[in-house]
Amino acid sequence: MTRQFIVGGNWKMNGSQATVDSLVQGLNSATLDKSVEVVVAPPALYVAKVAQTFKAGQVAGQNTYCASKGAFTGEISPEMLKDVGAQWVILGHSERRHVFGENDALVAKKVKHALAVGMQVMFCVGETLDEREANRTTEVVFQQLQAVADAIDEAEWAHVVIAYEPVWAIGTGKVATPEQAQEVHAAIRGWLSDKVSAAVSQATRIMYGGSVNAGNCKELGKKPDVDGFLVGGASLKPEFIDIINCQQ
Ligand code: PEP
Repeated sequence: MTRQFIVGGNWKMNGSQATVDSLVQGLNSATLDKSVEVVVAPPALYVAKVAQTFKAGQVAGQNTYCASKGAFTGEISPEMLKDVGAQWVILGHSERRHVFGENDALVAKKVKHALAVGMQVMFCVGETLDEREANRTTEVVFQQLQAVADAIDEAEWAHVVIAYEPVWAIGTGKVATPEQAQEVHAAIRGWLSDKVSAAVSQATRIMYGGSVNAGNCKELGKKPDVDGFLVGGASLKPEFIDIINCQQ
């Protein structure tokens, strides 16, 4: 089964109208590996603008709520993201879980709602350093996966990409080794086979995220169960192009 390599750029809460324009222009004019699916996730305020100007791939929101509309001050719905031209949404990012206190149940509801509306979802899972050191990595990741598996149908996995992002590697410069990433990705694939289906296990893409840069992406990308990257800091720099092209 060939899974299309996918590279996402999570711009987080960075940028301005001017810097967003220049990031888009840089990617639009770059020579990118055409076999790679590219998705950028600007801050919500800039999603509409990027959706109109970005020609090198698709656009994601960084979060959405699990309702279509209503009295949810400060939130946006996946319907709104779709309305302004985004096709994707990142859900369950560790900053949402750890800075804003989102739990597995809320993340699962958000995934369910975004899928129901027709969005593609980058669903993030990953363990903290304490959890890794206590040998609880797969227990934690499987629990995060189970919450979503309980909420969605087997067919809906076709619209989900899993992003394995160890919390200790996000924004720290401390990247997982290719072997550490492969070990967890293979475990996730095994879990999908046991708990969802063999077909979903083979078809679902699993991205790695956590301090990916131009220097480490090639080796990580060679691992058989690493189907792409979710990139934070380096997606704001010209090296994002090298990461997209890492398989050439
Ligand atoms: C992320 O925010 O998803 C991420 C992986 O960040 P960074 O690449 O900066 O570690």
